[in-house]
Amino acid sequence: MQAASPRLVLKPGRDKSLRHRHPWIFSGAIARVEGEPASGDTVAVLAPDGAFLAWAAYSPQSQIRARAWSFEAEDAIDEAFLRQRLQQSIARRKRLMGEGDAMRLVHGESDGLPGLVADLFGNTVVVQIMSAGAERWRAFWGPALLELTGASSVYERSDAEVRALEGLAHRVGPLVGTPPPMARIVEDGISYDVDVAKGQKTGFYLDQRDNRLLARSLAREVEVLNGFCYTGGFSLSALRGGARHVVSLDTSEEALELARHNVGLNAFDASRAEWLAADVFSQLRKYRDQGKRFGLIVLDPPKFAPTEKHVPNAARAYKDINLWALKLLAPGGHLLTFSCSGAISPDLFQKIVAGAAADAKADVQIRRHLGAALDHPVSIHFPEGEYLKGLWLQAA
Ligand code: SAH
Repeated sequence: MQAASPRLVLKPGRDKSLRHRHPWIFSGAIARVEGEPASGDTVAVLAPDGAFLAWAAYSPQSQIRARAWSFEAEDAIDEAFLRQRLQQSIARRKRLMGEGDAMRLVHGESDGLPGLVADLFGNTVVVQIMSAGAERWRAFWGPALLELTGASSVYERSDAEVRALEGLAHRVGPLVGTPPPMARIVEDGISYDVDVAKGQKTGFYLDQRDNRLLARSLAREVEVLNGFCYTGGFSLSALRGGARHVVSLDTSEEALELARHNVGLNAFDASRAEWLAADVFSQLRKYRDQGKRFGLIVLDPPKFAPTEKHVPNAARAYKDINLWALKLLAPGGHLLTFSCSGAISPDLFQKIVAGAAADAKADVQIRRHLGAALDHPVSIHFPEGEYLKGLWLQAA
């Protein structure tokens, strides 16, 4: 162990989660800080008896005061170490996903790189840096990702709200090279243009890949409603699946514009697609008043509960949209309903939807529990990584 490195010594009884290889060290677990680590510096984390537990990145402003890079005393946290982690993460994707041009290459804590996300879109890698530790190595990620992927540019989208909790300002712009204005990707045979600079998050919701494929398989000859459509992922999948008509809702005009553009990329019959700048909460009620029915409904809302304290309000919002969607299901119709709020567990989400079904007097069965695609792994030591959960329901 490097004797000179600063140290965090934990309080008695607070070493259990690290021994279970959970990567977060909360401020309340720390008895004292030895030395003067700056934001992002590597610290040794020690049990009260001095036993080595982990190498971690220090984050002086965050409740998550440090995030573990490694649980091995012999490791040195340097560029060679981080490079190996990146390499392993990318190699796993190649095994899982083959040679696709749109995939998540690095999924933060679950890939052993806390606070770092990297998505591949065509020849562009988009990086999100969300922790003080990942920020400390900011200059390293761009060139390393370029070299390991063979991409031609790396673009930074460090504008997630969580940066504020780490005391970090937003940063957006090219890290290496210049990305094209739109990155063209092909997912399951459907082309999309991704706006890496101005789109939401990194530009495209790769986590829903498998569920878009499911929607495609359920769409044949039915009326489809896609709430929260963003740039049209589920809508285009339903069109490809042979939907009679697809109505897609989003409050973002920019998202809808790109969705329409994406329809054009695929030579779909645009008359079968209707795009509506509308609030899902009120539009579902309008459809109910009009007596509309749909054979397939997709609800993939934004994160209603960014943190624990938002859970009660979020639960009401999830219940509301699911209740109205269930009332709009045709006999035998399917509902794919999601929550990407880490603070809402799969169990709680199912209870909320069950409450909605009871109030709607809807007789539905669970066909399957849904989650994020394979390139969004969940480390068994980090259950928080399982943020996306969904239910495939079918009306009687
Ligand atoms: N399903 C999409 C991703 C959805 S992201 C995909 O596969 O790509 C959530 C979307 O909900 C965002 O585009 C956001 O603009 C939209 N949104 C947020 N609040 C909304 C509301 N009340 N009504 C309609 N759309 C909303």
